[in-house]
Amino acid sequence: MKIAIIGAGIGGLALALALRERGLEATVFEQASRLTEIGAAIALSANGTRELRRLGLLDDLLALAIEPTELIYRDGMTGDRLAAHPMSLEHAYQDRFGAPYLGIHRADLQKVMGAAVGVETIALDHRLTRIEESADGVMLHFTDRDPVFADVVVGADGVRSMVRDHVTGGRQAVYSGTSAYRGIVPTSRLSALPDPQAIQFWIGENAHMLHYAIGPEGGDVNFFAVVEGPTTWPSETSWVVPATLAEAHAGFARWHPAIAQMLEEAAVDKRWGLFVTPPLRQWHKGPAVLIGDAAHAMLPHHGQGANTSIEDACILAGMLEDLTPLNREERFARYEALRRLRTRKIQRSAWDANAALHTVAAGASKRRQATLARFPERFAWIHGYDARTVDGRLDPVPE
Ligand SMILES: Cc1cc2nc3c(=O)[nH]c(=O)nc-3n(C[C@H](O)[C@H](O)[C@H](O)COP(=O)(O)OP(=O)(O)OC[C@H]3O[C@@H](n4cnc5c(N)ncnc54)[C@H](O)[C@@H]3O)c2cc1C
Repeated sequence: MKIAIIGAGIGGLALALALRERGLEATVFEQASRLTEIGAAIALSANGTRELRRLGLLDDLLALAIEPTELIYRDGMTGDRLAAHPMSLEHAYQDRFGAPYLGIHRADLQKVMGAAVGVETIALDHRLTRIEESADGVMLHFTDRDPVFADVVVGADGVRSMVRDHVTGGRQAVYSGTSAYRGIVPTSRLSALPDPQAIQFWIGENAHMLHYAIGPEGGDVNFFAVVEGPTTWPSETSWVVPATLAEAHAGFARWHPAIAQMLEEAAVDKRWGLFVTPPLRQWHKGPAVLIGDAAHAMLPHHGQGANTSIEDACILAGMLEDLTPLNREERFARYEALRRLRTRKIQRSAWDANAALHTVAAGASKRRQATLARFPERFAWIHGYDARTVDGRLDPVPE
């Protein structure tokens, strides 16, 4: 069976590895000419690292990443600690969820995953432009490349997925009405920041700041400063637009000095629109099926986009084992049924988190305090998930 994966992002690479674990080979077609996205970071939670451990990557990742000491919620203005939960402290997170929480440079993650998949499996400079369905598979058309036949094509091509267009007839990602300034700053330059080795949410009016340490010694801090608006996104073709430092500061006027320092040290000059995939009526059509952001791009407030892409990959790999034209429809429907509810629930919960993080209404603070104190219990269902045990039919690959 010829399996084509479109997109060598986190979902696509995880799928190639999960398939190999089950004795299946695939070719990954990637539009970019190299793999690394410089200047970005990712937080991997236990539901993702559990799978990466099974795929044999965890030791390499641990050498390049750091576990946050605590999860801390702070008042954006005063910097007061509103709630705190130990993570690497007391080994609390791993004891609870059975796998670590890691902050890592995205380029490092892709390097480790890409090296494990192997250059011979990844066809770079292959931009998919069209899918032609035939009775027994698909013909994939690329810019300036020969067409390629596949029995199955997996759309791991992200939030602006071409494969999703084919599957759904053109369902577009939608702008969430919120946007973000991002940056990575050496920890040594953040003198105003308390607890730089923790993962922290600073909460305020119409905005919040999330940051966590990345790299082997936590030598850098990755931040993600979210603001409401603009009401409509100014670009039709890009989700990144130029911005000024003054605009970024304006979103956090009168906040704690640590916030201004982060924005300044990163010399913020861009703004990212946050886009989500609207609920899709179907995730598959004939031999084409979707994973990751192509199926369910979500607001990043639970840090679950990449982690749920890894979950998708592991479950879909199980469905592709012994796939035939006769059982294909049933397998893809089963995959979709297993993944749809969970990813929708996380998508909705990320919207709720946005509202909770941006609320400072009078009288709401006690309620918020109670909510923040219960966060580990409330979101244990996200981190405790084990993709290999959700379907009795899936034969778990031995660890
Ligand atoms: C600012 C920000 C911070 C985030 N932080 C976190 C976090 O901490 N934790 C977390 O879990 N998630 C996070 N996410 C979400 C996460 O980045 C995505 O959900 C995740 O990368 C999705 O993986 P994917 O494989 O589906 O898509 P992507 O990683 O977007 O990969 C898609 C790939 O497909 C390729 N491609 C696209 N179109 C084509 C085509 N036509 N032909 C060939 N190749 C194509 C692209 O070049 C790309 O390599 C964050 C997202 C943002 C925007």
